Formats: sequence, structure tokens, C-alpha cells
Amino acid sequence: MLVVMQEGATEPQIQAVIDRMVALGFTVHRSTGVVHTVLGGVGPAERVDPADFEVIEGVKEARRIQSPYKLAGRHFCPAGTVVQVGDVDIGGPRVVVMAGPCSVENRDQVMHTAERVARAGARVIRGGAFKPRSSPYTFQGLGEEGLRLLREAADQYHLKVISEVMDHTQIPLVAAYADILQVGARNMQNYNLLREVGRQPKPVLLKRGPAATIEELLLSAEYILSEGNYNVILCERGIRTFETYTRNTMDLAAIPVVKKLSHLPIIADPSHGTGRRDKVLPMARAAVAAGADGLLIEVHCDPDHALSDGAQSLWPEQFEELMAQLRIIAPAVGRSL
Ligand code: PEP
Ligand code: MN
Repeated sequence: MLVVMQEGATEPQIQAVIDRMVALGFTVHRSTGVVHTVLGGVGPAERVDPADFEVIEGVKEARRIQSPYKLAGRHFCPAGTVVQVGDVDIGGPRVVVMAGPCSVENRDQVMHTAERVARAGARVIRGGAFKPRSSPYTFQGLGEEGLRLLREAADQYHLKVISEVMDHTQIPLVAAYADILQVGARNMQNYNLLREVGRQPKPVLLKRGPAATIEELLLSAEYILSEGNYNVILCERGIRTFETYTRNTMDLAAIPVVKKLSHLPIIADPSHGTGRRDKVLPMARAAVAAGADGLLIEVHCDPDHALSDGAQSLWPEQFEELMAQLRIIAPAVGRSL
């Protein structure tokens, strides 16, 4: 059930509604908007008449939520959520670009890439320290050493860090170094992991599974939100279709669809979305034009010798070119870079 408080509702009025909802068996999630406070109640909605809430002082309206995702739906935060990562706002007017290698390989690689992407305007460095690889015989990541290198590079070049957490036991370690925890496509339906990242405070980037519908993506986000972590960023990274020319099929329509259905920011990953370096720039441009709140781009200073995903990693010069193009495209859709 959703209870929208009136503009200017007082704190005691809001608390009285929360108390009433809790007494009826609801778990209450609060969204404090600029104008209205919205209370999302997860619980026995079918046994409660929303009209009973509309007579309580300070309440503007109350209704049942029809969609299966109660907290990820736009009704919970109509103005849209801005996820704050220090001084980087994701979901605000600025398009946030996260860039870096697929995997952290060594210090030189990370420092060099960080310097180039930061100079070009990226605000977050990406890099996997724990890698979900299709084959157990390929490079699996540097683990904690990789996280340490990412942090060092980020601090030197005033960047934030995003890195993947593959398993709930890795959360404390990754959270000690990274500013954003990435839940990878293969783990989008690892419900234990989703619940655990929902129980800690760092923002979470949730990637769409290769065979997941948009509704399943939003329900996975719901797992995180329902544990109390509202700092969730969604990511379209391509889905598996009958097409084999590209590594995945980049579903750009997911961006406006998610924007309508959900208040959560959504970014695009055209590197995994296409798997081919020469296709990354066009799809990155298109994603920003389609309303993406940010981009996740693989960049490597020597992509031909990368230990993972070299074929889809941009040269730093290509990344600079992309950023120059985005500086023209973003204002055309009311954003900045
Ligand atoms: C990655 O970002 O390096 C990654 C493994 O992505 P995905 O989970 O989308 O495959
Ligand atoms: Mn990769």
C-alpha cells in the first residue's frame, strides 16, 4: 500500500501513519521527496481499505500498489532517485561516465588508465578484482590486491570506484575499497546476494541478467530496496538473443521503459552490450540520447593484450573521442556531462 502525505505534513503526522501501518502488519519504507513524503507499506494490503488512511490527518491519498515491485516503482519516488556517491550524483542532470578496464591486471595498467579516463571526464573508475568468467581456466582477477590498486588510482585522480562483488562473503572486503558495489549480470537473480547488498549502505549497481525481462530486473532491485538500501542503480548491458554478430543485443528501449516504470537511475554498458570496440561509441551515444543517466565503458591502455574483454575495450584515444561527442549530445537531451 502507498500513502502519500500532504505537502507540509508534520513529522508527528507522518509518524502516526507509520505507527498505524506497522500495527496493521506492514513493513514501512519512507521516501522523502521535495514536496511529498511517500510511505510504502509492504504487507497485508488486501486486508486493509486504503480509504481508512485517507481520513487520517496529513494524508493526501492512499492506494494499493498494483505492480509487483512496490518500492522500485516510480510511484514510490515520482521525482526520481538521485544516488549520491560523495560528490557524484547518479540520476541527476549530469550524465555520469564510469570507465576503466574489465579486470584490474597490474598497477601500471590501472594508474595509466585512471589518469586517461579522469582527464577525459570520467568520474568513476571501473575494474573487476573478482571476475565472473565463463571458463574456470581464464584469469579470475587479483582479488584484494586489485581492489587496493583501484582505490589508489581513484584517490590519485579524484575518481570513485566501482567493482564487482560475486558472492555475499566478499561484501565486506569489496565495500572496504569500493564506493559502488557491482552485482553482475550472472548474479542478477542471486537472491541471497541481493538481500545482503541491501543490508549494507554502499550504493549498488545492478546489471540486467542476459535472459532477464525488465520486470525481473525491477524485482531483483526490489530485493535490495526491501532490505533498506535505496541506493540502487540499474544497468542495461545487453541480453542474449538469436543474433550472433554482437556479443549481446543491447536493449536500448529498456532505458525509456525503466524510466517510466521506476524511479531508479539507469545506466548503459555498451561494452558488454556489443562486445566489439567499434560498436561501443555509436551505442554509447544512442544510450545518452535515449535518456541513460550514465555509462559504464571498458577502457584499456593496451586492449590487444588485455586479460579479459580486450575486443570490447576502447583505446584511451577512442574514449576521449566519445567524451567529446557526448558533450554535444547530452545538452541536446537536457543533460550535461
Ligand atoms: C563486467 O562489468 O566486467 C562484467 C562482468 O559485466 P556483466 O556482469 O554485465 O557481464
Ligand atoms: Mn568485462
